[in-house]
Amino acid sequence: MPSAPHPVLSVVVPMYDEAEVLPLFVERLRPVLDGLDEPYELVAVDDGSRDRTPVLLQAARRTWPQLRVLRLRANAGHQAAISAGLAAARGDWVVTLDADLQDPPEVIPEMIARARAEGVDVVYGVRTDRSSDTAFKRRTAHLFYATMRLMGATGAPDHAGDYRLMSRATVDAVNALPEDHRVLRLVVPALGFPSTTVGYARQERAAGTSKYPLATMVRLSLDSVTGFSRAPLKLATWFGLGGFLLAVALLGYALVAKLTGHTIAGWTSTVMIVAAFSALQLLCLGILGEYVGRIYTSLQRRPTYYVAHDSLTDERERHTLH
Ligand code: UDP
Ligand code: MG
Repeated sequence: MPSAPHPVLSVVVPMYDEAEVLPLFVERLRPVLDGLDEPYELVAVDDGSRDRTPVLLQAARRTWPQLRVLRLRANAGHQAAISAGLAAARGDWVVTLDADLQDPPEVIPEMIARARAEGVDVVYGVRTDRSSDTAFKRRTAHLFYATMRLMGATGAPDHAGDYRLMSRATVDAVNALPEDHRVLRLVVPALGFPSTTVGYARQERAAGTSKYPLATMVRLSLDSVTGFSRAPLKLATWFGLGGFLLAVALLGYALVAKLTGHTIAGWTSTVMIVAAFSALQLLCLGILGEYVGRIYTSLQRRPTYYVAHDSLTDERERHTLH
């Protein structure tokens, strides 16, 4: 059998118990990808599904040679499943999208065209119309983006989920990040690659039910906040420092009260001991917080800069400068 050509495009799709929607998904996606007239691969990441998803995927493979199935041993979660797909994808361009047809596959050609025309590395799919989402989901999503901006996760377009196109350089950079619990919609913008956006109307889930219960939404938010901000830790430092000053003041007050004779026996020594030790503990907690924060950011190994061009190696730049 001749070896398949190197894929220009990889499409990564996380799937968890998506048997109900899978036939519809294949039916919608395949004509779009076949219509590209470029070699592609579809990387379906079966995130430990317990329904007929793996059976249906294997069946689809018989008639769709570009379909690659990656089965995770156990359910790892949406973000981890996408990460697994990104690590496996071989394409020069990689699109990630959900299996439930909420992200219309028909946008993919537009994403590729925009990336090529504008010479950017990332094209974010932005939900311009979320009327198909519940009011609760919309409101919590709004809160999420506002909070993350406040916390310093800049560069992430509002209402950009995980439907996006990335260049090989971007995917390599994402794969090189060692941190656990990566929230890709925030990590990718943080890498700082040139980007643009494409708007689309978010559709209703075509079939099946949401695999994102409230508990998972809360976990994603926690991962986002802790992954992008040391603000909560900073708060602890300031509390520690504030508590320290308060305890020192209490110490002073107890001494003054003792010297002016406004106390009952035993009160001064008790207050002094409590105040002195609280002050010490809170101060140490604050110091620890500062170190923990630094350890955390250095473990994340996010690049502190990103070189866009080097005139020594960049031919394009050399020509344009003349
Ligand atoms: N998903 C996954 N692992 C999980 C949960 C979800 O791979 O543990 C997939 C799911 O099959 C879908 C995508 O992630 O393709 C988004 O999930 P869903 O549509 O249920 O989330 P919602 O759109 O309701 O936020
Ligand atoms: Mg969905």
